[in-house]
Amino acid sequence: DRSDITYFGAGPALLPTTVLETAAKSLVNYNDTGLGLAEHSHRSELATKIVEEAKADLASYLDIPDDYEVLFMQGGGSGEFSATVYNLVNVWVERRRQRILQEAGIGAGKEISEDVILTELRKAVEQDLKIDYLVTGSWSLKASQEAARLVGPEYVNIVADGRKTNDGKFGKIPDEKDWKLSKNAAMVYYCDNETVDGVEFPSFPKALEPVGEDGPIVVADMSSNILSRRIPIKNFSLIFFGAQKNLGSTGITVVIIKKSLLPPAVGTPAPSLMRKLGLPVGPIVLSYETIAKNKSLYNTLSIFDVYIAGQVLKKALATFADKVDGQQILAEKKSKLIYAALDAHPESYKVVPDKSSRSRMNICFRVTHGDSIDAAEKLFLKQATEKGLTGLKGHRSKSSQIPFKELIASSQYPKAMALQTKSRDEVNA
Ligand code: PMP
Repeated sequence: DRSDITYFGAGPALLPTTVLETAAKSLVNYNDTGLGLAEHSHRSELATKIVEEAKADLASYLDIPDDYEVLFMQGGGSGEFSATVYNLVNVWVERRRQRILQEAGIGAGKEISEDVILTELRKAVEQDLKIDYLVTGSWSLKASQEAARLVGPEYVNIVADGRKTNDGKFGKIPDEKDWKLSKNAAMVYYCDNETVDGVEFPSFPKALEPVGEDGPIVVADMSSNILSRRIPIKNFSLIFFGAQKNLGSTGITVVIIKKSLLPPAVGTPAPSLMRKLGLPVGPIVLSYETIAKNKSLYNTLSIFDVYIAGQVLKKALATFADKVDGQQILAEKKSKLIYAALDAHPESYKVVPDKSSRSRMNICFRVTHGDSIDAAEKLFLKQATEKGLTGLKGHRSKSSQIPFKELIASSQYPKAMALQTKSRDEVNA
């Protein structure tokens, strides 16, 4: 039974029982319409209402300013590894094109041929196009690899690699003074919380703070720590996250994007121009412009998954009078409790990441009790399961790369975290 176990899985993660019960009813018969939510058209009025309400509740919970757009997309966090590249390289090219036109005096009666524009753009791409990645764990590494695959490694700049300053392993965010940021990068990308490695940025990096109107284009993957602390949205151009960890069920991906990256502020270059420049043209379903223009309903969206996300947000808004700040206090309290317990027993446990970058969401530790870590971790997992503590085993990548299994616990809201066994709803509250 659900109340017998406390689940620590990082994602798909635990959802509040009340949300699941409401969603289960809606799956059969939504609001007495006689039809289940997964059967209603995404073009129906009720679908639009669900989408708009979820957007508004997310904006309210996180205090998203008016000059940002919330998009519901598909393709998961991995889809966004590609989407961010396609879209922001487009923006970079379009802004450059505009600059070339302006410098040539277009609009002031002068003319410039398409050939000259193309030559100028080719030169700009060759000399200046860079996409910056801060690699602090396996997810930002994957994102940087996807960029290299799509546009070519020559355009990818690794600003810093956490392994280089930490004995070849992820676990520490490199000192900002050693970061090698490009000038006018198409974006500076980082993963705010590395799920597998348990590495989280303690706060917004000083080096990425906006300078006047022309701050860097900062993009963050917040798949595994969104909704868990207040974020300075204004400092970001784009934030994305898959819903399955901290928001709802698998099936939708959320993008919070600054409107200045969308039309009418900036258009999309013609696909033929991108091809001439040797740059990729992305799939239409990953185009932020297209999704924004169609209010997230360009093609069939899983309204049921949006509904679940919306219900989680409504529960969060009802639980925390001070919204995300309330959740932040809880997340900090929970993770401190667990780290304190682990640190108190150095003979039995070793926390993997450095103290300076410890995640409040995914607590990675080894069980070192006895002669063999492998045996100790097996025993730990067995005994944990007997106590109803499940989902504690680490990411599969860890078991193949290193001989022992990493252990990851999750403190996400609305996911379980308490070490003592409680009923699921007590834990969620
Ligand atoms: N980014 C982070 C931080 C993640 O934890 C994950 C999933 N574990 C992903 C991206 C990839 O997400 P998806 O499986 O939705 O593609």
